[in-house]
Amino acid sequence: MNASLDILPLSSWINTEGKPLVIAGPCSAETEEQMLETAIQIKQEGFAHVIRAGVWKPRTRPGSFEGMGEAALPWLQQVKKETGLPVAVEVATPQHIELALKYDVDILWVGARTTVNPFNVQELADALKGIDVPVLVKNPVNPDLQLWIGALERLNQAGVKKLGAIHRGFSNAQETKFRNSPMWNIAIELKTLFPQLPVIGDPSHMAGKRAYLFELAQRALDLNYDGLIIESHRDPDKAWSDAAQQLTPAALNQMLEELHVRKESYGSDYQSQLEIVRGKIDNLDREMLETLAARMSLVEKLAEYKRDNNVAAYQVDRFREVLETRAAWGKSMNLYPNLVDELFKLVHMESIRKQTEVMNQVNA
Ligand code: PEP
Ligand code: MN
Repeated sequence: MNASLDILPLSSWINTEGKPLVIAGPCSAETEEQMLETAIQIKQEGFAHVIRAGVWKPRTRPGSFEGMGEAALPWLQQVKKETGLPVAVEVATPQHIELALKYDVDILWVGARTTVNPFNVQELADALKGIDVPVLVKNPVNPDLQLWIGALERLNQAGVKKLGAIHRGFSNAQETKFRNSPMWNIAIELKTLFPQLPVIGDPSHMAGKRAYLFELAQRALDLNYDGLIIESHRDPDKAWSDAAQQLTPAALNQMLEELHVRKESYGSDYQSQLEIVRGKIDNLDREMLETLAARMSLVEKLAEYKRDNNVAAYQVDRFREVLETRAAWGKSMNLYPNLVDELFKLVHMESIRKQTEVMNQVNA
């Protein structure tokens, strides 16, 4: 399905002075004191453009801390007054939107557990009709790009033009290094389909643990993301939600200073160098495909011999030999072992498919 989004650039609603947008703040607003102290520290460190806080917390299991609700909203008004920074909260129902706006919240975000439900998203979109507020849409918990796009489209069709996406990773069936698998290719595909859509990385919810924040934040910047949303708490270990992934404002500042921000645009010299190298890569990719096509026509010949001699398409010894020799060749060429292994598994699978196709054709 063809898609398009009518979006205003990030710079039209927030001034980041050419730097990536940084949204920071606690996972949850817990007490007035915690919220204010955290926000003031963030302001003093000087790195953030927006303060975030969860007021309504969608928790996987009942009985966990579910947010302070409306009671926390006056604290955010106070945060705005004390820091001069805009504030952002998660909304999941039309009532959340109404309350957030009543208390002057500047930016809304749709959480991962809401993006999965088109009915839910449509209700939010209907409630936002005629309201000029920026909305950021987190990816759905499951790795479904279409759901993510669908949510963006529903909001956009309701007239939300100050729109952005937050990439927070996808939930895992098994225990993995990260709390949520980044699956970067899904976000890259989104960026490719909608080049004008601001994409913000959420390393906190990908990582689940402080130790992984840096590498994930750096990866997001390497992919030219427009910003980062990172959880920060005055006393992370005592946080009422997501304690293991939060950083103090000072530690977050230090981490951000160590990140390399890649250039957004290249000088013309750089651009032409880039084009030359890209041209060479295009040629090599074409040659790679030509080689693959030549290999497949040999496979066809092989299949004809096998068919005429009534031999099975798949021989386990040969498969093993293919993988082993290619792994050794790849190693001598300094190629990443996984790449070579996965590549030849795919090539071999296709060659079996091709052979069975040929072998099942009636003898010509
Ligand atoms: C959050 O930002 O605190 C949050 C609940 O995030 P997500 O919707 O990504 O789980
Ligand atoms: Mn959180």
